[in-house]
Amino acid sequence: MKYISTRGGGGEQSFEQVLLTGLAPDGGLYVPAELPQVSLKQMQAWKRLSYADLAMEIIKPFIGDEIDTTHLRQIIEESYADFDHPDVAPLTNLGENEWILELYHGPTLAFKDFALQVLGRLLDYVLTKNKQRVVILGATSGDTGSAALEGCRHSDHVDIFILHPHHRVSDVQRKQMTTVPGDNVYNLAVEGNFDDCQRLVKSAFADQSFLPASRQLVAVNSINWARIMIQIVYYFYAALRLGGPEQKVSFSVPTGNFGDIYAGYLAQKMGLPIERLIVATNRNDILHRFIRSNDYSIADLAPTYSPSMDILVSSNFERYLFDLFGRDGAQLSAFMAGFGGKSLSVTDAQWQQVRATFDSASVDDTVTCEVIADVYKATGQLIDPHTAVGVKAARMCNTHPETPMVTLSTAHPAKFSNAITAAGLDTPALPEHLHDLFERRERFTVVDNSLKAVTGFIKKQLSH
Ligand SMILES: *Cc1c(COP(=O)(O)O)cnc(C)c1O
Repeated sequence: MKYISTRGGGGEQSFEQVLLTGLAPDGGLYVPAELPQVSLKQMQAWKRLSYADLAMEIIKPFIGDEIDTTHLRQIIEESYADFDHPDVAPLTNLGENEWILELYHGPTLAFKDFALQVLGRLLDYVLTKNKQRVVILGATSGDTGSAALEGCRHSDHVDIFILHPHHRVSDVQRKQMTTVPGDNVYNLAVEGNFDDCQRLVKSAFADQSFLPASRQLVAVNSINWARIMIQIVYYFYAALRLGGPEQKVSFSVPTGNFGDIYAGYLAQKMGLPIERLIVATNRNDILHRFIRSNDYSIADLAPTYSPSMDILVSSNFERYLFDLFGRDGAQLSAFMAGFGGKSLSVTDAQWQQVRATFDSASVDDTVTCEVIADVYKATGQLIDPHTAVGVKAARMCNTHPETPMVTLSTAHPAKFSNAITAAGLDTPALPEHLHDLFERRERFTVVDNSLKAVTGFIKKQLSH
């Protein structure tokens, strides 16, 4: 499988090259040159596969022969062996044709574990083979950080630096990152918001001259293609368990960086019969405004009870726009260059195409808490605030009530207990393996919201 940049620059890259980087040199994101197609017959044969076996089938074509089957299978099996549910991604029924897909049974209690458990092992495998050591640099709104640290910390071939917005992640999220032991692990609390962290990371990737000559940066954010690829799997898994491919299924996806829902869009393009894809946002609703009214413009950041979606600019949206612009990198570059302060829109024909694939809704904190309370009362199921945004959006956009609707349940409620208590419910307990989280020692460094502060810190640590 070959990969190309959304901005049209550079040539084709291998999976390994794309894995070991972040943005393409022209500032674009990598996407497959061609998407593998799955036939109905194949999907029928996949119905009874375990999660790991299905993951193997779906991921394999994206990697081709760059990693042999035996090692790939081992990586995938190990990645999901520690999940605390035998189904890995269990479906729970909330009502008539209403489901949630629980994606929080991994070590750090959010769906980020699905991709980062595999990504950490893929990196370790490739770096060991190449006798190479790299620097992992990532920005987190809370969940990517701990999942990346958990997925990568056992590798002797990486130093990991994670930027989070100071005072803007939940206590549990911060503790999960800052209590990870290891002398190759660094947490930086940036005096800014998540978009600042994301911008700093992108700038560092663009000019890596601060690194020792033998080192390069690798991304763990969803700008890294491998994360998207791995997330495609659970769309197939859920749909095949709900009667697919004969039965269509819809998905509602709590969205921040557009990574998770983009994986759903790819699943549909690969052949999975998906009826609707619903972009569920909180008050930070740039994507909702675009889908509803063809207005793509930055608003002010509003902190919410669903902080992992407090994002102004969704980096993966560019991957979708690339398709919308007929895979014309030059056209997309021109569009992106016009972005910043200004409001952008696409042609009417393009916008109709967007609306043929996606619905959207924006859900505020008050309604989020109401949904948490309602769902608990009706079903006994406690959902986290991100999931609640998804469930509400699904109910608001339910144009096909005869089709099963699956909301991706992206985090365990104990990660966001302030929303749960605001909904009038008891604070949920953390799972057993995290019961002493609040007694563990934290390590992090507060840094200015400046590129110099971040690159200076990394440089100093690497010279020790
Ligand atoms: C990261 C995250 C999201 C948003 O996912 P994107 O891929 O950024 O759209 C939603 N919910 C939770 C709990 C998350 O951690």
